[in-house]
Amino acid sequence: MKKINTSMTLPNQNGFFGPYGGQFVPEKLQAALQEVVVAYEAAKHDPVFQREYHQLLADYVGRPSALFFAKNLSKKLGGAKIYLKREDLNHTGAHKINHTLGEALLAKRMGKKKLLAETGAGQHGVALATAAALVGLECEIHMGAIDVAKQYPNVLRMKLLGAQVVEVKSGGRCLKDAVDSAFATYMADFEHTFFAIGSVVGPHPYPMMVRDFQAVVGREAREQFLAKEQHLPDYLIACVGGGSNAMGLFHAFLDDEQVQMIGVEPAGKSFKPGEHAATLTLGKPGTLHGMFTYLLQDEVGAPAAVHSIASGLDYPGVGPQHAYFKDQGRVRYETVNDQEALAAFQLLSQVEGIIPALESAHALAYAIKFAPTISQDQSILINLSGRGDKDVEYVGKLLGIS
Ligand SMILES: *Cc1c(COP(=O)(O)O)cnc(C)c1O
Repeated sequence: MKKINTSMTLPNQNGFFGPYGGQFVPEKLQAALQEVVVAYEAAKHDPVFQREYHQLLADYVGRPSALFFAKNLSKKLGGAKIYLKREDLNHTGAHKINHTLGEALLAKRMGKKKLLAETGAGQHGVALATAAALVGLECEIHMGAIDVAKQYPNVLRMKLLGAQVVEVKSGGRCLKDAVDSAFATYMADFEHTFFAIGSVVGPHPYPMMVRDFQAVVGREAREQFLAKEQHLPDYLIACVGGGSNAMGLFHAFLDDEQVQMIGVEPAGKSFKPGEHAATLTLGKPGTLHGMFTYLLQDEVGAPAAVHSIASGLDYPGVGPQHAYFKDQGRVRYETVNDQEALAAFQLLSQVEGIIPALESAHALAYAIKFAPTISQDQSILINLSGRGDKDVEYVGKLLGIS
């Protein structure tokens, strides 16, 4: 494994992690992005901003989230000790609130009136609408018409939280069309609007900024683990869609060379094109959504169709810092398929009384395969990125429970 001494200072000033990242956007947007770069740099070093953010993480989100020793699961698997970082216990049920709150506070500080975003399954939309309500900003969420129909409870949540949901009826009426639609809206009114990206993806400074807001997860987990075990964990495992919960956990451990990190991508139904979203495992570098990174593309170079049982993981790109870590060998990327994730969802529910999000079940499923292969004095820390309440109806149908 190569040593990365500069891990804590990346990206460079142009937003590159090695060859990945950057700002690949139309000229008109470069000034808008520069405004975000400058405002975030100031906020990052402003104790007043940081104090307000951390106070909300404590009093509103409920941080620090617990670090739980999953004794029953560890015993059942008969290998390493398994610990769970309980991001599922956060307000709104996942890690996403950590960065939407940060983005909302930054938008307010910049004097913006409105938060704008696209959403696929609606999880980012709900977390953003929540932050907008708290901070006192308007919120406009673009969502493909097919997703609106599929994820109606999240549409209702966003509306109850006071957000405007724009149903996108163009193209394939899914996430990609929602991105295009939200982007067009931003181009028309970036003076009053803050584009709130939902993962460590997009043009600089978003991959860095979202990482910084999520890094609280790893800082807490490192301290909590040391307090319980008096040493560091041997392995960290997290699922990777865009990569924000994984980066949030990994960041504080990057300079701990003895800690091995595993990012888990969705292998979906199969490794056939369109049936998975294993971007780092099967993709190639290219440009999408303002960044240079690994991508899944079709024959003509357009973003490929993707699938995962966990809608939060089906994205044909990945955060540029993960692309860099893959090439450097600092993080190992593995895959878990739909069936394995579904089995992990059931197992954690039954042995620990915790119903995980289907996304998080991918990290668990990899640990379930891996833990029995290592010794009982080793330990694995898993980021349980969210709770499964949103998935119970769907899983119930899949399993034929009524
Ligand atoms: C959105 C989501 C993910 C995937 O996003 P990342 O940016 O890869 O973390 C994972 N888990 C849950 C619970 C989510 O809601």
